Amino acid sequence: MTSQIPISAGVPAEIAVQAMPDDDRLWVPQAPDVWFRPLMLNTITGQWCNLLKVTRAGIVSRHRHPSAVFGYVIKGRWQYDEHDWVAETGSFVYEPPGEIHTLRVPENTTEMVTFFNISGAMIYVDDEGNQIGYEDTFTKIQLCRDHYAANGLGADYVDQFIR
Ligand code: FE
Repeated sequence: MTSQIPISAGVPAEIAVQAMPDDDRLWVPQAPDVWFRPLMLNTITGQWCNLLKVTRAGIVSRHRHPSAVFGYVIKGRWQYDEHDWVAETGSFVYEPPGEIHTLRVPENTTEMVTFFNISGAMIYVDDEGNQIGYEDTFTKIQLCRDHYAANGLGADYVDQFIR
């Protein structure tokens, strides 16, 4: 039964999708053996939600967060070299702004999938903490456009996740 309460003009459309996609073409490559699946790409606040998938063990990246990150592990496990905990399937993770950490998939794990809600940017750094790259909601959108244009979904397929 649907409510009859009127919705204010200008409210953006909701998003309700199967997060783990049936179609593997939705996974956008961002590094060797590393993919993301866009869920919500916010061009007003600079925040985005995606699934991260890694299909090998080892270091994925070292990075700094200027803003808070919230995660939920859907499959597999991973850890940060700087901390003694392991994010297992079903774990919730809060990463405070200012953190610099090194994401690693442990040797006994061949695949992990994690939901992340990220604001601002991922700032990639080297061993000394110097910036070597970054990602934000706009670079994510462009990666999606390029990948979906190339694999037949079409560049505008990503538009359904953009607000
Ligand atoms: Fe992180």
